Amino acid sequence: MIIDTHYHQIPAMPDEMIGALLSDITRALKIMNKKIDIDDLIEKAKASWGDPDGEKLIAGMDESGVDYTVICAIDTIEGGAITTEMAQLQNKMVADVARNNPDRVMALAGIDPRRENAVDMLCECFDDFGMRGVKYHPDFGFDPSGPESYKLLEVLESKGGILLSHTGPLHPPSRSKYAEPVLLSDIGVDFPDLKVIAAHMGYINWRPWAALATHQPNLFGDLAMWDVYAFGRYELFCRELRDLIDFAGVEKVLFGTDNPIFSIVRPTKDWIQLIKDLPEKAPAGIKFTNEEVDAILGGNAAKILGLT
Ligand SMILES: [Zn+2]
Repeated sequence: MIIDTHYHQIPAMPDEMIGALLSDITRALKIMNKKIDIDDLIEKAKASWGDPDGEKLIAGMDESGVDYTVICAIDTIEGGAITTEMAQLQNKMVADVARNNPDRVMALAGIDPRRENAVDMLCECFDDFGMRGVKYHPDFGFDPSGPESYKLLEVLESKGGILLSHTGPLHPPSRSKYAEPVLLSDIGVDFPDLKVIAAHMGYINWRPWAALATHQPNLFGDLAMWDVYAFGRYELFCRELRDLIDFAGVEKVLFGTDNPIFSIVRPTKDWIQLIKDLPEKAPAGIKFTNEEVDAILGGNAAKILGLT
């Protein structure tokens, strides 16, 4: 079973937001030694990112062999462009994709905990929209273990929801200090039953995540954005993945894609195949087993998400 635990369901993508995301994409292409054609990227983004009813999501899953996907919405109060009403409209549209595909998709709400009525938003997302967790982007400028977030996490834990929280530095305007994995450490103490997925496992900064995940039973991490190094610097990727598994335990590592953002730079099928091939193709001295591959690609996530 292949489970993607990190997918951005984007009901509509305004053209001006495409530009903001392209710096991540061009950085990825450089590392992957691929040609950068900005106009071509913009065309691909326009064609694939906006997906109001989830048609592109399901088609992409079928094409690449993904059985189940955790989709999320993103919310931020930064800049004031997104009102609470808009955030909830987005959450409702994302939730409907999961409701229409209950065997294939689970939805997480985008809620910036700094919103005055963040707890009400969460209750509506769970009770009325059928969502199952929350996605944070703390690098918009909030502490995931701060008092505003805690109000939300209390309710989230009581509802048995999961938290997917971005970790790891990104280019500005991302405020990377809020994406430090160590900011998840108090959550593991005060909300011991809450399952937390550190998106990207801190990325290049994975050691603090691994150090925490070693001790916190409900802290996990996903491989989204690691494809950039997997394709661009294969040996480095194998080395780092081996080390982080050896520290944190393979049961803590989940497959993720950051699609549809990253599906414009590499086919998802190839990302899955690269992981499947690790036992055979990893450089000399770095070993992976087929059991580890199965656990990463879906076995671990199935347990965490309660799928059979
Ligand atoms: Zn993401």
